[in-house]
Amino acid sequence: MIRKGRYDRPRYPLAAATLLLFLCATLPLPYLSKAAEPSAPNYVLIFLADGGSLGQLEIARLYNRQVHQQGLVITDKVMKEGFYGSLTTHSADHLVTDSAAAATAMAGGCKAKNGVVGICHDGRIPETVMERARKNGMGIGLITNAAIYDASPAAFISHVRSRRDYGSILEQYLKFAPELLLGGGRDRFLPQSQMRTQRRDERDPILLFKAKGYHYVATRAELKEAQGPKVLGLFHMGEMSFEHERDGGAEPSLSEMAQAALRILHAQNSRGFVLFVESEHIDSAAHLTDAPSLIHAVREFDRTVNLGYEFYKKFPAQTLLLVVSDHDTGGLGLTGGASARDLKKLQSVRLSFGKAAELLGERPTLQAIDQLIAEHFPGFVLPIDLREAILKRKTLGPPFPANPTVAALGAMVARQIRASWASSGHTNQPVFLAALGVGAERFRGYQDNTDFGHHLLALLQAKRSR
Ligand SMILES: [Zn+2]
Repeated sequence: MIRKGRYDRPRYPLAAATLLLFLCATLPLPYLSKAAEPSAPNYVLIFLADGGSLGQLEIARLYNRQVHQQGLVITDKVMKEGFYGSLTTHSADHLVTDSAAAATAMAGGCKAKNGVVGICHDGRIPETVMERARKNGMGIGLITNAAIYDASPAAFISHVRSRRDYGSILEQYLKFAPELLLGGGRDRFLPQSQMRTQRRDERDPILLFKAKGYHYVATRAELKEAQGPKVLGLFHMGEMSFEHERDGGAEPSLSEMAQAALRILHAQNSRGFVLFVESEHIDSAAHLTDAPSLIHAVREFDRTVNLGYEFYKKFPAQTLLLVVSDHDTGGLGLTGGASARDLKKLQSVRLSFGKAAELLGERPTLQAIDQLIAEHFPGFVLPIDLREAILKRKTLGPPFPANPTVAALGAMVARQIRASWASSGHTNQPVFLAALGVGAERFRGYQDNTDFGHHLLALLQAKRSR
């Protein structure tokens, strides 16, 4: 029988300490630091480029470098410092998704049919990222330069069979009462007795939101002064103006809305917040094959992401920054022979193709067409065939949209910057995803858009169980 001597006891702790020291020296660092980091973010910032593609970002990056001698925050900082991923985007019933099905996948983690908001293809109503965050006591913000009831923001806090059921989406917003709603779409917030409303009843949602404690703002100046705890900002009757056409006195930019949101949400939500910020203008410009508006929209989106990046730099141990697209629109790329000099021509175009078509009207004269090009498209020449198309109201056919003026301008700019559009609609290209901060590693690699939702839901679940 071996008796334990009085000097035997200390040997075990000593051996354990030696083993621990050995492990510390040999285990890979990420394993050890992972345990020390918080497992769930307090601040989740989702920046959605609706209709965005990596190809568009690359053109904007080259443009920024050539014209403004600056980089692009998304590619040069978020993608380089964080994790990069791609998402497949097919919906439950189509190879090419729409924004409703894509946002349902990203907000609720399930495939939906095109046109359906917040309901899975099997009829299940998923818990969304925002609903789970609310259970954690986190603040919620939705920002878009589309109408605030549009499908992408709607899928984060509402559930409707048709994305056009705006009445029900607004009622669900009112019930959920997110801390912040900023965007366009005042047309469905006004009773039918008011001018330019889309409502067919006397319900007055702005009054109802005010009754729930919301501070209502309608201009850029009012937004600057806005205080919480809850803010409703409606800055346009429909979709807000493209950045390069915006009336800076009245409408805030996307980055100004994001700045106000970060200020208000951070000041008032001690348990953190989830902020969704969407640039609809990227999708809208690509649907019109409007390359100049698209570049200006991507640049404004990038300025907006930069605010998120700066916020992350202040709170790196508590923030998850996500920059993502829901689907590609247009399939845009530069082709052989494209040059920096060609790209520079986009700088002086300050009129969107949609506004140009409005200016010319349905029966434009030759003189009016030439004047429009000379005044608003310096550096571009309208070829005879496209001039004829505008004059005789001939559609060009795919990939250009139906309006002859829009199509001709799209073809003119594309030819002269050597760009190619695949479509004036959505495509099935996998989309980019960049993630930085707490939990970012989950988003790397090639995944499905439902995985995006699963990861966010899992991170927010972890926060609840902490
Ligand atoms: Zn679209």
